This record gives sequence, structure tokens and C-alpha cells, in this order.
Amino acid sequence: DTVSFGYQDVSPEEKTARVGGVFTNVAAKYDLMNDAMSGGMHRLWKDRFVAKLKPREGEQILDMAGGTGDIAFRIARSGASVTVADINPAMLEVGMDRAAKRGLDGLVWTEANAETLQFPDRFFDGYTIAFGIRNVTDIPAALREAHRVLKRGGRFFCLEFSTTEWPGFGDVYDAYSHKLVPQIGKLLANDADSYRYLIESIRRFPKMPEFKAMIAEAGFVQVRVEPIMGGLVAIHSGWKI
Ligand code: SAM
Repeated sequence: DTVSFGYQDVSPEEKTARVGGVFTNVAAKYDLMNDAMSGGMHRLWKDRFVAKLKPREGEQILDMAGGTGDIAFRIARSGASVTVADINPAMLEVGMDRAAKRGLDGLVWTEANAETLQFPDRFFDGYTIAFGIRNVTDIPAALREAHRVLKRGGRFFCLEFSTTEWPGFGDVYDAYSHKLVPQIGKLLANDADSYRYLIESIRRFPKMPEFKAMIAEAGFVQVRVEPIMGGLVAIHSGWKI
């Protein structure tokens, strides 16, 4: 059995290892690169995402593939308790440094693979995953785990690149992403290959209706999608009942 790692077909174990390599390489420059590549827009997408989640004081929220903490810091402002989980210790390290600089000491940081979580059943009120799910090797397994660790009445929110349906915009975006993104990656992070992978993984990610069906398949109900910029980015959500 093979899975795709960017343009290549590799074994599931190799994909997980190589995704690990990508994020270890980009960790130190990750936040700078997000601003550079999205022209700062990722900040607005993340604001919108957390506004839709509507976290409240006293809730337990799991921010899966939380990386350097962008989503977790936004959620923490509500007073909710946030657990940041990520498979990559280098990304978590950067996140913990950022939290310390902001004086945010209430977050829990933990290494975890989204496919096999160490948390008990029905523990969290909310589960978020932002720009993380497309890097996961076994996406259905990660969705099932999300469902398992949520309480009844808990909500699932996923922010991810998708495919824009705005006429003509897809071509512009393709040209930008395939030519310019690896060049910016080379210039700012001295790493064109990692950014080539990131772009190719976006292109291969299931389109909105297909991803919605995968979320429903994992047991979620009222599965919805809110496209941003015609679906260049999309917020998928669902409830566990
Ligand atoms: N959520 C953060 C944000 O929006 O800025 C970080 C997103 S970053 C593009 C993707 C993250 O997914 C990386 O930190 C990576 O280590 C993590 N990741 C990849 N595969 C994972 C897995 N199987 N389980 C948990 N985290 C994973």
C-alpha cells in the first residue's frame, strides 16, 4: 500500500517520517513563512475559524496539529483550557517559546499523532485542526479519533486549504503556488523542497464535498463547509451527538 507524499508514492511509514522532516526543517521559520506566503491573510482565516468555534471559559479544547500555537493562542483568550498536540517536537518547541514570551502559561503542550490519541473517550468540548489534516497519513483514522475524544455535543472544526471555485482564480493560484512559493521558501528558509511538498499536498487534498463525506463517515452530524475565497481555504465543521 502506498500513499502520496507530494509528487511521490511512498509507504505510509515513509510519508509520516518525511512530513516530520518537512516540519522539523521549517519550524524556526514557520511563522515568518506563513505571513510571507499568504500576505498575512492566514491571520484573518485563523480569526474567522476561532470565531466560529466560539470557545467559552471552562471548556476543554484540543488543538490538534497545533504546531507553533497560532490557533491555541486565539482560543486561550476566551478562557477555555487548551491542549496543543502535535507530532513534531520542533514545532511544539517554537510554540512553547512563543507562549512564554506572551506570558501564556495555562496551555498544555503534548506530542501526539492525530491517528492514535492518548486522551480518554469523550474528554473534549471542541477539537480544532488547522492546516494539519492534509499532512496526516491516515486521515480517516484521525477523524475517528477526533470523534472518539469529543464529548456528546462536542464540535469538530477543521481549517484547511481546498480548491477554489472562483472562475479563473484557480489558474492564478496554481501559477503562484508552483512557481513562487518554492522560491520564497528557498529565499527565506533555504528550503524549496519542503514548500514544494506543501503545495502539492494542497493540490491532492480531497475537494470540499468529498472531505465533508469523510467527516460524516467518521460519525459526525450536521457536517458543514464554509468556503473562504471561493474555497481556496475552507472551514469544515461537524457535531458529535
Ligand atoms: N495549526 C498550526 C497553524 O495553523 O499554524 C500548524 C499547522 S502546520 C502547517 C501543520 C502541523 O501538522 C505541523 O506542526 C505538523 O507537525 C503537524 N502534523 C503533521 N502530521 C501530524 C500528525 N499525524 N499528527 C499530529 N500532527 C501532525
